[in-house]
Amino acid sequence: MRTTNHRKLYLLLILLQITAVSVTAQTATRTLVRTGHLLNVKTGAEPAAQTIIVTGDRITAIAPTASTPKQSGDTEIDLTKYTVMPGLIDVHTHLTMAPNFDPYYELTMTPAKEAIIGVENAKITLEAGFTTVRNVGANDYTDVALRDEINAGHIPGPHMQASGPALGITGGHMDENLLPFEYHVHGQAVADGIAAVQHQVRENIKYGADLIKIGATGGVLSKGDDPQASQYTLEEMQAIVADAHRLGRKVAAHAHGGQGILWASEAGVDSIEHGSYLNDEGIAMMKKHSTYFVPTAYLIDWMQEFGKLPPLYQQKMKDVSAVEKQNATKAIKAGVKVALGTDAAVYPHGLNAHEIDVYVNQFGMSPLQGIQTGTINAADLMGWTDRVGTVEPGKWADIIAIDGDPLKDVKLLQHVPFVMKSGIVYKDEVHKQ
Ligand SMILES: [Zn+2]
Repeated sequence: MRTTNHRKLYLLLILLQITAVSVTAQTATRTLVRTGHLLNVKTGAEPAAQTIIVTGDRITAIAPTASTPKQSGDTEIDLTKYTVMPGLIDVHTHLTMAPNFDPYYELTMTPAKEAIIGVENAKITLEAGFTTVRNVGANDYTDVALRDEINAGHIPGPHMQASGPALGITGGHMDENLLPFEYHVHGQAVADGIAAVQHQVRENIKYGADLIKIGATGGVLSKGDDPQASQYTLEEMQAIVADAHRLGRKVAAHAHGGQGILWASEAGVDSIEHGSYLNDEGIAMMKKHSTYFVPTAYLIDWMQEFGKLPPLYQQKMKDVSAVEKQNATKAIKAGVKVALGTDAAVYPHGLNAHEIDVYVNQFGMSPLQGIQTGTINAADLMGWTDRVGTVEPGKWADIIAIDGDPLKDVKLLQHVPFVMKSGIVYKDEVHKQ
């Protein structure tokens, strides 16, 4: 019995070796992406007729098409009528959540349902041209499972950094406050005090978190808390940041109110999400600490046009919406660094590129600056500058095509007809007709 098993194992190993060889041979073939124009998101240059050479999941070279003839075994992709650019990045998504804030719907959510919702939204987001996302808050580590299944190639979706459940104080934005005391329900990463937050950071990392998400202030879509009030103390956030950074994880802080923004930035978090009541003091602190600002601004426009929130959230949404845009504009004018984040899930997934339109046509960024928030800036915030954010040799082959020049009209980014991620084409409306 034992010998037979050994023989089987030996045969299996040989088989695996053969498979490994054939996979290597396969990935060594080149894909030549022929571009009309290739947008350099660092400089804004758009040289014509460039060819991106893709080998396996990486970009291996870029050269003028005229000097890059097709060789035997090469595959060609004709995007000569399009502007080609790096896949976009959204640093604030909730792929495993649906845009439904009915309290009963929330209470009946299960890990299985969340996971299935995530599968659907990962595909929608990727097909919208977002080849990388940072998922900031999900129950039961459904975001970690989603990331792993995408990476294993079982389902289509963007590259993901996942946080797992967001840390917050008892009764705060990250807690579950819909039910009375007798039910004893609480948010999954509620942690109060230095020792508890340290433990929670370590637990999130233990179960697969790539980053840590925290609630620095109250929020809008939660019962009984105040967006303007700070939640974690400076000392608690310092403890969170110290542990997360020591263990190689960034920290994203949900923060609306001025005091929470100030403390979170002082504590050394890597990004302030929302920033609705960002004031001069907060702006100065964020500049001093090089803290990124993630505006999540399009949701205000979407809410005003289509939103149907339950009554218990309506006034908070109104209050926050009344101030967020003018404060964001002030912060951007003052030179605070911005990374594109949408909070997709508050409105339907796949509309992520609308965020850039707000930055450009309401906050006064140039189109190139707007595109940079969703490429090189977002990559920098995620610590992934070595793999995403530009079309350059050595990076993942994450490439989208735009029909027209996005530097003339960033609204064109809302309709992406071609998406390649890691060298695999996930959407192609160019060659469909
Ligand atoms: Zn969010």
